[in-house]
Amino acid sequence: MTAHIDGPVRTRSSADLISAEEPVLAHNYHPLPVVVARAEGTWVQDVEGRRYLDMLAGYSALNFGHRHPALIEAAHRQLDRLTLTSRAFHNDRLAEFAERLAELTGLDMVLPMNTGAEAVESGIKVARKWAYEVKGVPADRATIVVAAENFHGRTTTIVSFSTDETARAGFGPFTPGFRIVPFNDLAALERAVDETTAAVLIEPIQGEAGVVIPDEGYLTGVRELTRRAGCLFVADEIQSGLGRTGRTLALEHEGVVPDVLLLGKALGGGIVPVSAVVARRDVLGVLRPGEHGSTFGGNPLAAAVGTAVVELLESGEFQRRAAELGAILRDGLTGLVGRGVVGFRSRGLWAGVDVDPALGTGREVSARLMREGVLVKDTHGSTIRLAPPLTITEEELVGALGALEKVLERGV
Ligand SMILES: *Cc1c(COP(=O)(O)O)cnc(C)c1O
Repeated sequence: MTAHIDGPVRTRSSADLISAEEPVLAHNYHPLPVVVARAEGTWVQDVEGRRYLDMLAGYSALNFGHRHPALIEAAHRQLDRLTLTSRAFHNDRLAEFAERLAELTGLDMVLPMNTGAEAVESGIKVARKWAYEVKGVPADRATIVVAAENFHGRTTTIVSFSTDETARAGFGPFTPGFRIVPFNDLAALERAVDETTAAVLIEPIQGEAGVVIPDEGYLTGVRELTRRAGCLFVADEIQSGLGRTGRTLALEHEGVVPDVLLLGKALGGGIVPVSAVVARRDVLGVLRPGEHGSTFGGNPLAAAVGTAVVELLESGEFQRRAAELGAILRDGLTGLVGRGVVGFRSRGLWAGVDVDPALGTGREVSARLMREGVLVKDTHGSTIRLAPPLTITEEELVGALGALEKVLERGV
């Protein structure tokens, strides 16, 4: 028998923990050298007790910050009652989650899943089934039109239509049935859509590509084109949705409602993976028992947290904050153009910042910002992405911009 030991047992340093990962953890990521041990709101703390402002927010999975009290309380309450039933039985949390999510998004029906990639996969399956059963596309001929530079996840089918060679190389053979057109090009989209087309699948703003925002009118054009062509508009708002851009959905900036909406990331409140396909009844209604499923999808813990997330968004407070603070972010970045920043794109509290390549790669700038106590992530080349929790204060945001200014002034 060993005696029970109270108190902290974690005595390993950041450096020790980083080197311990190397032989036992798959090398599919290249994290910045910071080992986070705690977090609250917009701040994280490493194992040595150093504090950092989180300007990435888990790629928008932490839109409400770390450990938002309402979300933590909802999770705790549910942990003490019921965590998992499987969909073999009903659970008493799922109906409310689906009702409120449908209401929030202006659509009819919800298919609960877990990760973003699963929501995308599910959306693809639903679109294909709809094409065969409703549109009348001949068996196995359905096509889905997607945009170049997309990011929709990492499964075999999804990387089949990625244009990022690093994401694809060595993972074939790939799933057929996808056509790739340039983003923000309605004429190219029009040429690619034909009678076999089940859906157009795009991100309203391409996050991983560097927060690439299409021209005003593009999303409206996609809506009109898909309606005219009799195919579905599937919008991947896994990163752009749930308050990030200053609206509940990025599509709302053009008043566009898709046929199928894919949500994830922030839907789990930074606590559990929660994703969903949300759609009209005549589309999601094509699924019948046994045709699709997930052991964990719609579990009561996920539904409780998801409902609490929807409740936060129902207040409109986070969308308002993202819009108001987004103006400050934009002004701050505008002031850095020509002073280390060569260009940027932003909407709400979300920005892709192109740093002068002479000053270093996005990775080097990120590493330098880390040493200044600000955590960000590069996307491609010399672009860094800023996506703080929507709970960030004006003072914190101004502090982060100051740190960026300092890093760019000094060079990397
Ligand atoms: C993150 C992301 C996904 C994939 O989500 P996972 O939860 O990582 O599987 C899909 N689409 C977009 C737009 C994303 O940003």
